[in-house]
Amino acid sequence: MQFGLNEEQEMIVSTVRSFVENEIYPHEDMVERSGEVPEEIAQRIKQKTIELGFYACNFPEEVGGAGLSHLEFALVERELGRGSMALTHFFGRPQNILMACEGEQKERYLFPAVRGERMDALAMTEPGAGSDVRGMKCSAVRDGGDWVLNGTKHFISGAEHADFVIVFVATGEDMTPKGPKKRITTFLVDRGTPGFTIRDGYKSVSHRGYKNMVLEFDDCRLPDAQVLGEVDGGFAVMNEWLYATRLTVAAFCVGRARRAFDFALDYAAQREQFGQPIGKFQGVGFQIADMITEIDAADLLTLAAADRLDKGLPSNREIASAKLYASEMLARVTDAAIQVHGGMGLMDDYPLERFWRDARVERIWDGTSEIQRHIISRDLLRPLGA
Ligand SMILES: Cc1cc2nc3c(=O)[nH]c(=O)nc-3n(C[C@H](O)[C@H](O)[C@H](O)COP(=O)(O)OP(=O)(O)OC[C@H]3O[C@@H](n4cnc5c(N)ncnc54)[C@H](O)[C@@H]3O)c2cc1C
Repeated sequence: MQFGLNEEQEMIVSTVRSFVENEIYPHEDMVERSGEVPEEIAQRIKQKTIELGFYACNFPEEVGGAGLSHLEFALVERELGRGSMALTHFFGRPQNILMACEGEQKERYLFPAVRGERMDALAMTEPGAGSDVRGMKCSAVRDGGDWVLNGTKHFISGAEHADFVIVFVATGEDMTPKGPKKRITTFLVDRGTPGFTIRDGYKSVSHRGYKNMVLEFDDCRLPDAQVLGEVDGGFAVMNEWLYATRLTVAAFCVGRARRAFDFALDYAAQREQFGQPIGKFQGVGFQIADMITEIDAADLLTLAAADRLDKGLPSNREIASAKLYASEMLARVTDAAIQVHGGMGLMDDYPLERFWRDARVERIWDGTSEIQRHIISRDLLRPLGA
């Protein structure tokens, strides 16, 4: 691994940083209070991202993306992490899984998503199936050459803006020595398809304005052309394209923690009690020291995991470690940033109480901390027969 960023990578960081400062920060308070992103602001962010050449920057150049490496994309996510997620959603990063599109699916889904003409959402989780994805009840059965989908997905981020969703459903079951195991297939479902409804979800304490929706499939009929990847191959496309999304969570957490840290550092230097800056008290100064040490550690874990991915090395454990550590680090850092601010840290005059609330979901989505620990420990113990 090479430490330090090259000129091009420094340029990516400074470009995205100034985008976030100029196009995202000014709208954050309004989105936080209203819980909504006005359409004209969403479109402006999208348009500016396209003009900057960063829309769908996670896609290869041959399909119209920016062709960034995993490491470069982690740098982008790290800078976006500083800003409101409800707003940075429109700095579009469609799901990489769309690379599995074949034939005319590319014209209908992949290319329009990369061009910013159609937005996607990804639906795996159900009320009865979260960590245990294979426990899903949502199913598709064959009927006269079509598929008929039934069931409910919940917690689906950004589905209110989605023109189509990428949905995982059970299409059968195999008997294995460990018991029955569901076969999963991935479908592309257009908004407006009869039998498919998108409705409001729950109100979350984290990321106001970045909504989660409930999807309902009620005898929703789809032709074979809507299958993404192979029938019963849902886990294969998931494993090929989705396991790295945890890295984006890690990178987000690092960026957000650095923004919280900047507030804490500044306050520790400016705020005076007992006739001196509070940062001079060891009790405060040491909190600052611990915060930056943890942030740097999470940053290095994240970039190292991205670098491994770029080199084609096995990186499942390293990505899990980065997601686990960075999301737990963010909880500690946002908490400490509030502590350094005393009572003012809890007031919405500062964004710290928001950062603290937002941080909570990072340990849950894209695989909870417990699931990441499971992945890490199994990776180490399985080869030893344990
Ligand atoms: C705001 C929000 C947005 C989301 N967006 C999306 C989205 O766009 N698309 C999507 O598909 N999903 C989305 N999710 C779902 C998210 O990925 C799940 O919430 C997450 O995977 C956990 O599932 P669960 O909430 O059902 O918890 P559960 O799986 O029920 O877990 C409950 C508790 O049990 C623990 N647990 C479960 N299994 C084990 C185990 N084997 N070992 C140890 N502990 C275990 C968990 O760690 C957790 O502490 C979103 C969730 C939220 C909150």
